[in-house]
Amino acid sequence: MTSDAVLKRELKRHSKGFLSVCEVSRKTQKEQGYNICWTKGKKKTVLSHECSGKHGCILLPECKKSSLQFGTMHTHPNPGNSLPSPGDIMSAWDRDEEAFCVCDAGNRKTEIKDLKSDPYLSTELKELIIQSQKDKMRCYKLNQNPNIKTIFQIEYPKDQLEMILDAEKHPGKDKIYQVIYRVKK
Ligand SMILES: [Zn+2]
Repeated sequence: MTSDAVLKRELKRHSKGFLSVCEVSRKTQKEQGYNICWTKGKKKTVLSHECSGKHGCILLPECKKSSLQFGTMHTHPNPGNSLPSPGDIMSAWDRDEEAFCVCDAGNRKTEIKDLKSDPYLSTELKELIIQSQKDKMRCYKLNQNPNIKTIFQIEYPKDQLEMILDAEKHPGKDKIYQVIYRVKK
């Protein structure tokens, strides 16, 4: 298993480039991101496929056979936030990612207005989204327990939002993810 120090080192390596991609995404209001793969021998990570457009980053292809999946970075345009969506978690699981980052590419004036008038989000979730907007970008380390998918499917059979709420409100190593690296606004 990759140590936290190495995960952070590799996330930092790509964060500057990712933050400028995030600025482009803020202007175009199009989701953007990319896949990150380990080179042979897990010495360092390199950018792989790029993605853009709605759900484009959830459907990112896997790393080539000669390399290993490390993680992904993608943006959340309006309503902007750096909180992962249930879909983000599911696709990170499916690709066996070690970590992934989300950058807030929202426009603050419209996003708060959008959030307050959204009838489908719970007050708890709105609070978490607003809290996440203090950060420009957040990176999450996924729980690497090989049985975690089964454990969480039993614990949260219907509502995957619940496991996000739990990871955010009661952080710990046994949760679906931990915030491992963040860049404040
Ligand atoms: Zn997302």
